[in-house]
Amino acid sequence: MILSIDASPLIISLATTCAATIATFFLGMAAARIMYDVRGGLRAWVDGLLTLPLVLPPTVVGFFLLLIFGRRSFIGRALEHVGLTIAFSWPATVIAATVIAFPLMYRTTLGAFEQVNPTLLQAARTLGASEWAVFRRVLLPLAGPGVIAGTVLAFARALGEFGATLMLAGNIPGRTQTMPIAIFSSVEAGNMHTAYLWVCLIVIFSLAIIRLLNVQRKMRVIERTETETPGTDLSEAVLPPVLSHRKREPAGALEVEVERNLENFTLRIALSAGQGSVGLLGPSGSGKSMTLRMIAGVSTPDSGRIVLNGRVLFDSTTGQNIPAAGRRVGLVFQDYALFPHLTVAENVGFGLARFPRQEREARIWKQLEQMGIAALANRYPSQISGGQRQRVAIARCMAMEPNALLLDEPFAALDPHLRRRTEEQLRATLAGFSGAVVFVTHDMEEAFRFCSDLQVLDNGRVIASGPKHKLFERPRTVAAARLTGCKNIATARRLAADCIQVDAWECRLRTAIEVPETLSHVGFRSHQLSFQKAGGGENTFPCWLVSTSEAPHEMTLYLRLNSEPVPGQTPHLQADVAKDVWRTLSSQPQPWSITLDQGRLLLLEG
Ligand code: ADP
Ligand code: MG
Repeated sequence: MILSIDASPLIISLATTCAATIATFFLGMAAARIMYDVRGGLRAWVDGLLTLPLVLPPTVVGFFLLLIFGRRSFIGRALEHVGLTIAFSWPATVIAATVIAFPLMYRTTLGAFEQVNPTLLQAARTLGASEWAVFRRVLLPLAGPGVIAGTVLAFARALGEFGATLMLAGNIPGRTQTMPIAIFSSVEAGNMHTAYLWVCLIVIFSLAIIRLLNVQRKMRVIERTETETPGTDLSEAVLPPVLSHRKREPAGALEVEVERNLENFTLRIALSAGQGSVGLLGPSGSGKSMTLRMIAGVSTPDSGRIVLNGRVLFDSTTGQNIPAAGRRVGLVFQDYALFPHLTVAENVGFGLARFPRQEREARIWKQLEQMGIAALANRYPSQISGGQRQRVAIARCMAMEPNALLLDEPFAALDPHLRRRTEEQLRATLAGFSGAVVFVTHDMEEAFRFCSDLQVLDNGRVIASGPKHKLFERPRTVAAARLTGCKNIATARRLAADCIQVDAWECRLRTAIEVPETLSHVGFRSHQLSFQKAGGGENTFPCWLVSTSEAPHEMTLYLRLNSEPVPGQTPHLQADVAKDVWRTLSSQPQPWSITLDQGRLLLLEG
């Protein structure tokens, strides 16, 4: 009896479902990619519209489709003119299934895109990748499992489509009768055996799809556990890199003057970098990363101008704005932003796609060897240590021979013991680099060690800039003094050209230089306080110990001046002294004698 059954519903269903899945795949992905960039009020509306076929009853969707493609509609008539009839033909089954399955593909894919770390896309752009390359080489592979899941779901939905298909394509055996419609007709005609057959087939297909989804999920789990197994840490085994420095034409300077207004933050910054490293020192949230992102072109200023080697990268007055991919500005992101789906070698070669294979490989190996990470070439970022990741990130930037290199807190993610070593390596690497280097940090000692010139950033403004020695010796503002590590800062009043009153320390101090009229605070570095026998010269006071705090190589003493402390009183000053000074001091009776050297007083503005 089964032999007498017409097999056309199976063939029609499979053909329709395959065609609809292919159409849905491309349409859904395109819609997801477009919507990925859409923000604001428009997004909710368009998103709602694209998702509507999933929410509406399929017969309602079919009804609308009939209005659009029916013989009496404008489109229907136009198509009929060229000899195409949609309604009640096989293409109608494909259109109905596509429209109904589309939201599943679109939604799942958009969700998968949004799971991808956007910094990775920015990193790809700074490495010269076009928008298409960013999509093909970063977004799509990282969203791959989601895209596959969306496709499988769309296939399943298209296979089961009934209501909209019946409305638009009807129930024409051998032409538009799909399996779900065949089930309905068979039951209506009392032909239960045939209905059983189609039902069984659909159940088998559906189970197979569920199985496929699970296999895929399992593969993802395996992939993850494999890549997350930490590799042996080679950082100690890898010898320090032997550097063969690249000799290049000396590059010019980087000139930045930009402004960016966000809801609760305004960045207004002007800085310049010539050859050698310029340091951008500022506390967390002061706008350091934002500044680098604007220079690299992954974030756009509201106004201003960015010029590198005489080439205008951004100018709000002329509307010029070279995209990140065309700037050749290397940005080492704070979290390194390595592509997790690519090996170390592939990461380093990411910006070299324009070179023929052999040259690309030669350049990759040169960088890997220079950075001492050649042994890790085939590992994935999740299989190497933090210090190694940092070197991969730097190698990836250097491989594209950038005109400027921007380093966003490159050591922040490293253990303290690795930091100093990595610092030395980076210094050696940069010695061969002739472009501008902007080094961002919140650590003043790191800034001091690493850079010759510093710009001090606070709350979106440059509050001090110049040679580091000058900045550390003579900060002019409270913020600059604090950021350069001054621990004793108090409000002060000018009494005379060479004398100030400091109420918080209960003392009056003589100054070596003329006190500015604008004086609001005084500062004194905790390392520069000196202790000696009583009866010293100017600015010498008796002092008492309030409390101490011990570090491995020095001692921090909290002190009060001029009178013995009573319990509950806060200390006036903090002094950091070497252990042997502490041993001598602690054997002497209090009060001790302390001097705030005139020449070392920091006269500050608020
Ligand atoms: P830093 O790198 O110095 O720690 P950032 O440049 O990351 O600081 O951020 C500076 C300020 O801008 C912070 O207050 C932060 O909250 C704000 N900010 C950063 N990015 C954005 C954004 N995309 N939208 C709104 N505010 C932001
Ligand atoms: Mg930052």
